[in-house]
Amino acid sequence: MVTPRSRPTPPETVVCFDRDWTVSVNPHPERESVPLSWVKHFAHERPDVDVWATGNQRLRAEAAIPGVDAAKRIRADLRTPETDDTIVDPVTGRDVSQPETSPSRRDRLRLVRALYADHTDAVDRFLVVDDVDLTDMEPEGWTHYHSWEFVPAAAAGETPVAAPDSTPFTDTPAPRATEERDIHPSAFDPREPG
Ligand SMILES: [Mg+2]
Repeated sequence: MVTPRSRPTPPETVVCFDRDWTVSVNPHPERESVPLSWVKHFAHERPDVDVWATGNQRLRAEAAIPGVDAAKRIRADLRTPETDDTIVDPVTGRDVSQPETSPSRRDRLRLVRALYADHTDAVDRFLVVDDVDLTDMEPEGWTHYHSWEFVPAAAAGETPVAAPDSTPFTDTPAPRATEERDIHPSAFDPREPG
């Protein structure tokens, strides 16, 4: 359950993870996948990182992270006449942030990004790790990695989120990953006072 909370600082980096053929719980048959323990580490051990599940939503429970429904719920909470720029699917013309919709892969990223973009300038980077090539999202501010690109780059410290030093390359649960972390962008650095 995502609830508003007071946050001392906004995140610097937002990372969205696909699940299937991306994370070790359902790895690509031939390519390197992101250890689930890494996802948990970024989500629960790194206050400068917010992590979202934007693929198969089973990753929400597996990594105790928020997903599409939470993003919609926060979006609904944050709606005001000033911030009510809808997120429109370019194909269907529907506002994908509405509760009844099932946003596409790319619209899920747009939804997450809008949660922050409307409320803070502090997020430097938006990353997405997905076995589907999403480099076409780069003009919208996303950096895409396949898992087999992300893992060696993160291990080498070449991504904005470096791999954990001490987390074994296994899927043993990371500590403090049993509860979904609270993420509510309105809790920090509001553009408008009050
Ligand atoms: Mg996938």
